[in-house]
Amino acid sequence: MDPRVQQFMAMIKARNPGENEFHQAVQEVAESLIPFIEENPKYKHAKILERIAEPERTIIFRVPWLDDKGEVQINRGFRIEMNSAIGPYKGGLRLHPTVNLGILKFLAFEQVFKNSLTTLPMGGGKGGSDFDPKGKSDNEVMRFCQSFMSELFRHIGADTDVPAGDIGVGGREIGFLFGQYKRLKNEFTGVLTGKGIEWGGSLIRPEATGYGATYFAQEMLSTRGGSLKGKIISISGSGNVAQFATEKVSELGGKVVTSSDSNGFIYDPKGIDAEKLNFIMELKNVRRGRIKEYAEKYGVEYFEGKRPWIIKCDIAMPCATQNEINEEEAKLLVKNGCNCVSEGSNMPSTPEAVEVFLNAQILYGPGKAANAGGVATSGLEMTQNSMRLPWSREEVDEKLQTIMKNIHKTCVKYGTKDSGFINYVDGANIGGFVKVANAMIAQGVV
Ligand code: NDP
Repeated sequence: MDPRVQQFMAMIKARNPGENEFHQAVQEVAESLIPFIEENPKYKHAKILERIAEPERTIIFRVPWLDDKGEVQINRGFRIEMNSAIGPYKGGLRLHPTVNLGILKFLAFEQVFKNSLTTLPMGGGKGGSDFDPKGKSDNEVMRFCQSFMSELFRHIGADTDVPAGDIGVGGREIGFLFGQYKRLKNEFTGVLTGKGIEWGGSLIRPEATGYGATYFAQEMLSTRGGSLKGKIISISGSGNVAQFATEKVSELGGKVVTSSDSNGFIYDPKGIDAEKLNFIMELKNVRRGRIKEYAEKYGVEYFEGKRPWIIKCDIAMPCATQNEINEEEAKLLVKNGCNCVSEGSNMPSTPEAVEVFLNAQILYGPGKAANAGGVATSGLEMTQNSMRLPWSREEVDEKLQTIMKNIHKTCVKYGTKDSGFINYVDGANIGGFVKVANAMIAQGVV
């Protein structure tokens, strides 16, 4: 490792002990940025890298609620307000039993660069709780969300901090959270994104992350004269991002052959068509069942406790969670002919897996660029809320496509090496950094 990166990381680890995912995210960015900062000393003198890795504010709070049996349950709530140099804090809320400070700091840190890449005026934040919505009744989820918002409401606002969904937070949860915010503040504002279409939501927002990751794959493929048409695609996850990536990939002529949840994955060599995708959507969004049922219904293979990367594919789109592709799986993907990875989830590839992709010089689109379509469309939702005027489906989709193309262009600008190889990791990290860093310098030591 570059000794400058090593020294910086020693400081980060000492200041943030035990926060492994946060260390991982910061190190990846530091490896891209430290050589760039050496060439641009104004960032070094202003200690931008040191400042950007320290949250502006971290809020941790108790979330007590009553379950259906009348028993008291206690969870922990978080909001990391990471950086507001270019706009109000913006980033999702995650509800999952694994949630802790380190995971949310990694997500908030990534969000700063991602939001900057979208070209929209949004700072970075992230939040959530270790509450597990799985197996809970709608009433329990509502009581949890109301309790969570009863503390969070004093820290957020349409011009201060605008949360959205993430793992475990979809339309149902945003509804409960918004209802409680409105009741406490007595105002109807765009304080959350991912809202229902009847009450301030944007068309295409639910689709945006999956669609955007697909558009990004298309842009990457086009640099080598390729496209999605006729390609075999492996997708992990079966939640919001995975569902709409599957839809858009199929629409553009690709064949998606896998779907997964935390228990295992299904392999459907004939491809997941529109009717089968409808089954997954009903299974996951309404009945809240397991992906195994797909195998039972369509008579395909189910792999318990496994991830989809053992299946031969041309393109891989991880859309479940962090660190879901390890070194061995990355090697297998490359060996099996996979030449493009577009990340729908945040930090799905371990550092070793990223190295495998970069060494093999395949098209590798890191999450902070490839999945930025979600937050970009949240930004478009904020714009429509401010104007009090909704855009049509076509208008939003067109803007989303333009934003994804521009993010790709930024990555090419900052990531193209002398050999012509586009290192999208460097491209996204440096491209996302410059705007935030310049704004921080302009605003003084704050
Ligand atoms: P959902 O909760 O809708 O779906 C998550 C999916 O991933 C589910 O199939 C879930 O399976 C699976 N999953 C979750 N945790 C694990 C785990 N530890 N191991 C294996 N599988 C797991 O979330 P989203 O689709 O919204 O988010 C997926 C990813 O995309 C996350 O990394 C998120 O940060 C990222 N992202 C989301 C955006 C959005 O707009 N929603 C925007 C940008 C990034 P199970 O049901 O069994 O838990």
